[in-house]
Amino acid sequence: MALDEYQRKRNFERSPEPKGDAAAARKVRKGKPLFFCVQKHLASHLHYDFRLELNGVLLSWAVPKGPSLDPATKRLAMHVEDHPFDYGEFEGVIPSGYGAGIVMLWDRGTWTPEVDDVDAALAKGDLKFTLDGYKLKGSWVLVRTKGGYAGSRGQEGRSWLLIKHRDDWSSGELDIAEFAPLSVKSEGDFADILSQDNPAIWRSNRPAQGGETGAMFDKIIAQALEMRASGARESGSGTRDSLGAEAPRAKAAGSGTRRRSSKAKAVKTKAAAKTKAAKSTKRR
Ligand code: MN
Repeated sequence: MALDEYQRKRNFERSPEPKGDAAAARKVRKGKPLFFCVQKHLASHLHYDFRLELNGVLLSWAVPKGPSLDPATKRLAMHVEDHPFDYGEFEGVIPSGYGAGIVMLWDRGTWTPEVDDVDAALAKGDLKFTLDGYKLKGSWVLVRTKGGYAGSRGQEGRSWLLIKHRDDWSSGELDIAEFAPLSVKSEGDFADILSQDNPAIWRSNRPAQGGETGAMFDKIIAQALEMRASGARESGSGTRDSLGAEAPRAKAAGSGTRRRSSKAKAVKTKAAAKTKAAKSTKRR
């Protein structure tokens, strides 16, 4: 496990993503509960990056449709290069280069292997584990498929399936990606995240042109520009240094009504998710 491929693909002068140090992370993380996260990533296509901490790095799979709580719905998960442990808290805008787009921290928590030997399970292509996140909980499995899928030339052995096991946290009805679409870090959506950065960044060259993804970018950029303009009008300050520095100021000034309403939405969604999860548990 190394971060060579991760680091080779990125220019850290131009990307806000962490460079990472696997050896240092291994030391710091020793004896701690294992971290997991899911990052919703709008790039050339919308997908969900599913990451499990192991030995100081994050094992990573790109899940085009995102996780499903329905045990009957197997979601394709393309195994990608290990990411730095520090990547797990990353949310923000990648202006250009590899993965250019917007990253949202969609879920995070801890994971527990349901096997004694994780390396052996990975080698075998069958890893069972339990998640304890905000949105994803209970028992899951990642299974490597045989021979890849149609159009996966050169990707042999990289194609896995992410499947929910039947338990108190599974649901045949609730589409979790649709039901709980917002960030667990900022509670915002893609437009909120972009508005904290530089919404004009892709005025000419967007990460995706045309099609469904291009349309999503168009809409999100317009929203972010509008949020920023109205935020500047209300607070008299259009500049934001960083997420952390801006959040308390925005609250104090009461700026950005849309921010507030989207936060309220996030809170409501969380409460509703709990109620709904409890209900669906009872039904089963
Ligand atoms: Mn990604």
